[in-house]
Amino acid sequence: MRFGCHISIREGYLGAAKKAFQMNAAAFQYFPKNPRSLIVKDFNKEDAALCKAFCEENAIQSVSHSPYPTSLTPHNEEKRDQVIRSLLNDLAIAEACGSIGVVVHFGKRISRLPLIENYQLLLDMLNEVLNQWEGSAKILLENNAGLPGVFGTTLEELVQIRKLCEHPEKIGFCFDTCHAFSCGLWDGGNWRELMKKGREIGYFAELELIHLNNSKYAARLGKDRHAPIIGSGYIKESQFDQLIKTPHFKNIPFILETPKEELSHSKEIQLLQERWG
Ligand SMILES: [Zn+2]
Repeated sequence: MRFGCHISIREGYLGAAKKAFQMNAAAFQYFPKNPRSLIVKDFNKEDAALCKAFCEENAIQSVSHSPYPTSLTPHNEEKRDQVIRSLLNDLAIAEACGSIGVVVHFGKRISRLPLIENYQLLLDMLNEVLNQWEGSAKILLENNAGLPGVFGTTLEELVQIRKLCEHPEKIGFCFDTCHAFSCGLWDGGNWRELMKKGREIGYFAELELIHLNNSKYAARLGKDRHAPIIGSGYIKESQFDQLIKTPHFKNIPFILETPKEELSHSKEIQLLQERWG
């Protein structure tokens, strides 16, 4: 299995790739720029090219995660323009680093707008970004956390949005296990059913990565608080076992976004490798 984790770019993109290598990780995720800002970054192209070459040489896969303020359902025109410019910048960095794509959360619902207008806004945003994007790095849409029924928590919404977009081939999916648990999409006991449905509607065929996180809260409470995979979280090891052993996931990166207080990521990756190979 391809286990990895989120890594800081404090030492640059190549530095992050080297850190992944040292940790014996087969994949890593990074923020392309300051995670708290949408300001476009004039990035170091040489560093990015070295990162790409290093990852190719060492068979390491990478994905980028868009900064926190990125929203596919922006509240006003100004924010909308900022997000579009920022995402195009994120995609350019991901492309230069040889990454699969950029993880972007499914938008949050704007409550004053009817539901349908929220989906329309999200589609407009994706179209506007992807009509200007010619590279091979993809937008990787991530399922939302939240109570059951919250906007962006179901596989059907992800699949439909991708289908309706003008460039579905430029969109892949990121499945976050903690988010899925928070809304009961995956409650630990329904993996077979979820797999079956995901296959039927074409979700898993477009899956590019998994955010592998345990949850500090029980299923269906709408809480997005991550916990280490093996330990005190509410998702049991036997339940992760079902998910991780899914044959289709053999070459898909599993990225840890778990807290590092109890256990370092390199130790956690080692435990995952010992348990699941
Ligand atoms: Zn995530």
